[in-house]
Amino acid sequence: MSTSALSATDLEDALQAVLKQGSLVAEDGSHVVDGLEPRFIATPYSAAELAAVLACANEHGAAIIPWGAGSNMMLGNVPERYDVALSTARLDRVIEYEPADLVVTVEAGLTLAKLQALLNKHGQFLPIEGPLDATIGGLLAVGHGGPSQQAYGRPRDWLLGCRIALADGTIVHTGGRVVKNVAGYDLSRMMVGSLGTLGVIVEVTLKVASLPAREELLLNTHADKIEACDAIRAGALRGLALRAACVLENKAAYWLSGPASAVERTRRELYEAHDGETERMDAEAGVQFGGALAVHDASDLEFRATVPPSKTAPTLQEFEACSRVLSLGIESACYPTVGIVLAWLSHGDVNAYASFIEQTRRAAVDAGGSLVVTRAPTDLKARLDVWGETSALSLMRSLKQEFDPKSILNPGRYVGSI
Ligand SMILES: Cc1cc2nc3c(=O)[nH]c(=O)nc-3n(C[C@H](O)[C@H](O)[C@H](O)COP(=O)(O)OP(=O)(O)OC[C@H]3O[C@@H](n4cnc5c(N)ncnc54)[C@H](O)[C@@H]3O)c2cc1C
Repeated sequence: MSTSALSATDLEDALQAVLKQGSLVAEDGSHVVDGLEPRFIATPYSAAELAAVLACANEHGAAIIPWGAGSNMMLGNVPERYDVALSTARLDRVIEYEPADLVVTVEAGLTLAKLQALLNKHGQFLPIEGPLDATIGGLLAVGHGGPSQQAYGRPRDWLLGCRIALADGTIVHTGGRVVKNVAGYDLSRMMVGSLGTLGVIVEVTLKVASLPAREELLLNTHADKIEACDAIRAGALRGLALRAACVLENKAAYWLSGPASAVERTRRELYEAHDGETERMDAEAGVQFGGALAVHDASDLEFRATVPPSKTAPTLQEFEACSRVLSLGIESACYPTVGIVLAWLSHGDVNAYASFIEQTRRAAVDAGGSLVVTRAPTDLKARLDVWGETSALSLMRSLKQEFDPKSILNPGRYVGSI
């Protein structure tokens, strides 16, 4: 049944029947995605209740957008339709934590802040960055590597297993609590980065890491961004104790991390290799360093390009040249050791932005990488696929058909408007 043919009363009655009282409310403007409002917000108390909402939506052909903290809802193509925002806010329990095994199992709606607070008490942490109110389910559904990717890998590397509520309301358990677990396809990791289009993550088991003994931040000022990129690459090739390294304006920012002796050696080497101004900050500043990359609200458009690390500086140069030709404002943060360029554009119109994305995406693809538009005005989104092209699209469509044949989960928002 299409959404337009769907009666709001039928859907409301059906949802009320499977949810506890107070778990279903009418939209109040708080769960808008690309200008679309859902009819209802459902906030179930348990995974079973959440699965029942999915079964009910599937039966009625109602479109669902899973909702964690809502901090990254700007990512994705414009939804095809949207009936229910399905919040994981009440799925926030810690199921099991065994510090001696460095493994924790939590519900998907637990926030990063709460999880880190628990782990920190035992000298441990989860090396995935994001806003502190982001949920673990949301972080995994987005699945981007952040600043610490250089030292700790990507979010999928920390996932051992998960429970997923599928579109038809069945709950499946994939993976386990040990590093090499059950035989078969690794369905847990397929959920990472799938943006909630294949199922709703309701519970996850994660590996965690020990907190580093020492952390600090060093900022070296360079003549320009390209010199800063080159300095970071040279440092990384010497095997310094770095958790992350980023170019912000004309500064090379180094997040030093590890045993005290390794951090001291790294600081000494970075001082010696640099002629210009240097600023040293404490570990707390390192956390703010991650935060400095938060949304640039004044910009109209945000994107993320991933290229081979050696191509980071030339790619950034191409992006800046293109912005000059189109008279656009550009700010960027780039990670030359992992090949990520984040950029924010302003002072343009839809035509200029569309032209910029077309040209820079081609440059990123020619360099062996890709470009994803992570935030854009709705009228621009309507003109392009924010994800770019992929040769695996038909395979992805088959997977989507298998997992969600009625396309009720985040319809239209993923690659190729899946
Ligand atoms: C400074 C900074 C650093 C960051 N670093 C990282 C990083 O290292 N790694 C990274 O991944 N991201 C990073 N991010 C972005 C971050 O991913 C998102 O802001 C966050 O993951 C979203 O969490 P959320 O709970 O707000 O999800 P939401 O915004 O609520 O949801 C995001 C998407 O996931 C879907 N979704 C939400 N919950 C579930 C679920 N339980 N099951 C299935 N689908 C679901 C939603 O439908 C939506 O499409 C960073 C952001 C900032 C500002």
